Amino acid sequence: MTNARKLTLNDPALLTQNCLIGGRWVAADGDNGIAVRDPYDGALIALVPRLGAPALDDAVAAAKAAMPAWARRPAKERAAILRRWYDLIIDNTEDLAQILTAEQGKPLAESRSEIVSNAAYLEWFAEEAKRVEGDFMAGPNPTQRILVMKQPVGICAAITPWNFPNGMITRKAGPALAAGCAMILKPASQTPLSALALAVLAERAGVPAGIFSVITGAAQEIGAAITSHPDIAKISFTGSTEVGRWLIKAAADQIKRLSLELGGNAPFLVFDDADLDAAADGALLSKFRNAGQTCVCANRIYVQQPVVEAFTEKLQQRMAGLRLGRGTDPGVNVGPLIDERAVLKMQEHVDDALANGAVLRLGGKRSALGSTFYEPTLITGATQAMKVSREETFAPLAAIIPFKDEADGVAMANQSEFGLASYFYARDIGRIFRVGEALEAGMVGVNTPAIANEMAPFGGIKQSGIGREGSKYGIEEYLEIKYLALGGI
Ligand code: NAP
Repeated sequence: MTNARKLTLNDPALLTQNCLIGGRWVAADGDNGIAVRDPYDGALIALVPRLGAPALDDAVAAAKAAMPAWARRPAKERAAILRRWYDLIIDNTEDLAQILTAEQGKPLAESRSEIVSNAAYLEWFAEEAKRVEGDFMAGPNPTQRILVMKQPVGICAAITPWNFPNGMITRKAGPALAAGCAMILKPASQTPLSALALAVLAERAGVPAGIFSVITGAAQEIGAAITSHPDIAKISFTGSTEVGRWLIKAAADQIKRLSLELGGNAPFLVFDDADLDAAADGALLSKFRNAGQTCVCANRIYVQQPVVEAFTEKLQQRMAGLRLGRGTDPGVNVGPLIDERAVLKMQEHVDDALANGAVLRLGGKRSALGSTFYEPTLITGATQAMKVSREETFAPLAAIIPFKDEADGVAMANQSEFGLASYFYARDIGRIFRVGEALEAGMVGVNTPAIANEMAPFGGIKQSGIGREGSKYGIEEYLEIKYLALGGI
């Protein structure tokens, strides 16, 4: 590929355009690849293979050959390899961050943070590999005992999105490999380079051929091949609810196990007893990280009536300090959106809110920086009927919706088919328990926007998904329970 923009890396081998299938590196077929572009200016940075069902078949065959030996290895050995993978990621954080910002657009500081905080899932599951425990129980009569063991679920396929191209992989591959499974990954077509760099490091860490394969290509064809392949036991998907719904249907014929991390539409409540400075800091972080393109982003900011104006002023002051620009430029904390389609969706939500009576406090327009930029925007007087309340905006739009009392706030927050993350700020301990228990979400941030880490169970309820990633629960997604009925005792 001649006219691609060059990235300056300490280790240029980390920027590979080839897929890893059963230990073989596979290149694009001539120019028939998928172009990877920098969302900042659309510059071409790489061309990755456009693979399909035959490549998936190859990866499954390699996984099938490699998995029995991998699963039989002592957990301590699998743990050591995962730990080496973690160490290599940490050692190469700077290069991985450059690759991530080039293909995804987020500010470099956020890229570094994504890499370090998500490598932690490999470290965590390396430790957890040694703690897969069974049970021994009494039987129904004196001659029987019950022995419960856990075994790897089998060959797993993972499909990941573009918003955390690095982080969404370690939280799946970590527990899968720790449990003794093999994993075949299809990363998002807009951001495959981070996945391929992780594959380079996996190989260096000693992950055996066939245990971790990465295939780029046509999503529908690979998706159909994954859901219909008899040797794939489990699918772990992070992405939109729409594709998640399709996967459930497509995987139904073979009753495959599924873990689904899907869309969110997180409510963020500020009660009248909240520390308003802390709440404004939290809202800023939750709303504008990755330019608002996170599944756990505050999407609907509900503020109790007596403190609406005070909170809005504080948030507005903080937002005025946000700097929009290229992710690699120093001081930039909001980068471009992933593509122009995302900008148009943001515009649609702003237009809809303003047409229906919301008031613009900041932003409200596209930026002169380029076609993928939209100014961080603050509106007040939003309502439940507006698009911004009903749909995930996935862009830097903060919409403030006033509420009357606790019951009113909780009811409005729960008025959504999604249930991934939710947040609230309050100091009264009784309220903290009442609201924490009443919010319909898999995760509730109480006086904090920081909910994702390797020690916590990440995941949603309602139409936000099935299953959990991270924590001691995360590895269970990759294990089957088997029990031996011991008789004749
Ligand atoms: P998406 O369109 O669902 O894409 C996600 C992945 O699915 C990509 O790898 C995509 O491949 C692939 N895909 C698309 N159609 C497919 C099909 N028919 N069969 C199999 N795979 C298919 O989602 P997105 O727009 O990239 O990501 C944004 C969404 O992800 C948001 O809704 C966000 O909330 C959600 N998300 C959720 C979490 C969570 O943990 N709950 C975390 C991050 C993001 P291509 O790229 O090749 O199309």
